[in-house]
Amino acid sequence: MKIIAVGRNYVEHIEELNNERPDEPVIFTKPDTAILKDNAPFYYPEFSKDIHYEVELVLKISKEGKNIQEKFASKYYDEIGIGVDFTARDLQQKAKEKSLPWALAKGFNGSAPISDFKPVSEFKNLGDINFGLRLNDEVRQEGNTSLMLFSFDYIIAYVSRFITLKKGDLIFTGTPKGVGSVQIGDKIAAYIEDEKLLDFEIK
Ligand code: MG
Repeated sequence: MKIIAVGRNYVEHIEELNNERPDEPVIFTKPDTAILKDNAPFYYPEFSKDIHYEVELVLKISKEGKNIQEKFASKYYDEIGIGVDFTARDLQQKAKEKSLPWALAKGFNGSAPISDFKPVSEFKNLGDINFGLRLNDEVRQEGNTSLMLFSFDYIIAYVSRFITLKKGDLIFTGTPKGVGSVQIGDKIAAYIEDEKLLDFEIK
């Protein structure tokens, strides 16, 4: 399986990092070794001094597809979970300054903690899902899918023009405002609506 992620999909997050608003989704990937499951701890890596959390809704692809039309895109994912797109912001900043890829800043071991997934049928309206992140029990990020620049279906259609999607692939759909640094000893919890789906420690 593979992990595909969308950068810059929420306007207020674009503004907080002084990035440009994109005309098309900004896409990057993480290797499968980035995944952390079952609330496993995140071990702070030695190569960074500025690891940021980014809470994101995650789609799970249910069947293979390429060149998927947007009007059929909803047939290609059947579960939604929540994850953290951990980012070595210091490495990413250096890469951005030199127009180099983000692969290591975004794809290092453990950079993609994910929750268990919920069937799409449990959501009343995919365009109105609240989600968020708490750091040590304090609310740091709150988002709603109505604020996305590019919808789930648009992202699926767009990505599948370039990369064939396969059953089990994960798509991180972008983070709302409020990203910030973590320290060893911090606790991160992530929510969809009022349900805590992720709860793990930084070690
Ligand atoms: Mg992100």
